[in-house]
Amino acid sequence: MEELVLNLHIHSTYSDGTATHKQIAQAGLNAGVDVLFVTDHNVLVSGVDAYYNRGDQKLLMLAGEEIHDKTREPQKNHLLAFGHTRELCTYAEEPQNLINQVRQNGGLSFLAHPFEDALEMANEVDISWVDWGVRNFNGLEIWNHLSELKTVSSNWFELLFYIFVPQAIAHHPPRATLQKWDELLIRGEKMVAVGGSDSHALKMQKGPLKRTVFPYEFHFRCINNHLIVPNRLSGDLLTDRKMILDALRCGHSFVGYDLPAATRGFRFYAQGNDNQAEMGDEIFLENSITFQIRLPEAATCRLICNGAVLKTWQDQEICMYTTKEAGVYRVECDIDYLGKKRSWIFSNPIYVRQKN
Ligand SMILES: [Zn+2]
Ligand SMILES: [Zn+2]
Repeated sequence: MEELVLNLHIHSTYSDGTATHKQIAQAGLNAGVDVLFVTDHNVLVSGVDAYYNRGDQKLLMLAGEEIHDKTREPQKNHLLAFGHTRELCTYAEEPQNLINQVRQNGGLSFLAHPFEDALEMANEVDISWVDWGVRNFNGLEIWNHLSELKTVSSNWFELLFYIFVPQAIAHHPPRATLQKWDELLIRGEKMVAVGGSDSHALKMQKGPLKRTVFPYEFHFRCINNHLIVPNRLSGDLLTDRKMILDALRCGHSFVGYDLPAATRGFRFYAQGNDNQAEMGDEIFLENSITFQIRLPEAATCRLICNGAVLKTWQDQEICMYTTKEAGVYRVECDIDYLGKKRSWIFSNPIYVRQKN
């Protein structure tokens, strides 16, 4: 199996971002990611799906979309859509209808920044998801890099500090989002977690202070999705696009905060008597299941079952655990960075089902 690094939730000049697709692709090459999903507000930009090559590096840029009801005040219910083939923002008024339309068009939908804080001093409302009766979406954006700026800034001093020291922003996803993810998983749903940049690279000016909040390249070095796929990028657009969407649909992926330390190489497997599963898969319980977790370097690792921590390992690279219980199992890792313990890795779940 291969591992592709995907950065998603990116805005270009087609909506409120500040760079063209070509400039964004160059930033992606600088950061060393493999795939970018650009998701402009309410526009599925056509003609920008393309490869960008530099030396032996190959980057695939794909267009997705962030869809929402523009007329709604205050703004709520932002939906990330990937893989659909036509503009669907006309359905945004009714979130369930929109989700159904994305699915019928062969696309995947993820609730963007489902819980976020307002940033009142800057007149920024919280754009949380509020319509929790919806079904049949593929997952949640559990960690949104830009959104965390709203959480960590409680005054102008803090806001300016994080704008000038952006590497200090990411601490952990909102607790409410993780709780909601577990709640949906316990309900029996398959729910894929993704991490998003929400990059715009906005230009800020306050008095004499000028700054880009935050450069695309910086975002692409931070919260990424690591897809476990059968092949490297082949250079055939339709094949590669399908492979990437399949990995996202199945949750064959983990969310990695790559700035403190590269998360490439993290793995989470389940081994039964004569069956095995990777992240995103179901496995049926025969007698017992043994989980194997491999961290790229020694760190704190938690195995979580149905929302509750089952076991914590400190300073470990390889962790093993055997269970005889069905349930939804997932892994979180933390790492020390800039004087704080911060979230580092979130696996997608392995679903251990009881055999009837
Ligand atoms: Zn949004
Ligand atoms: Zn956005």
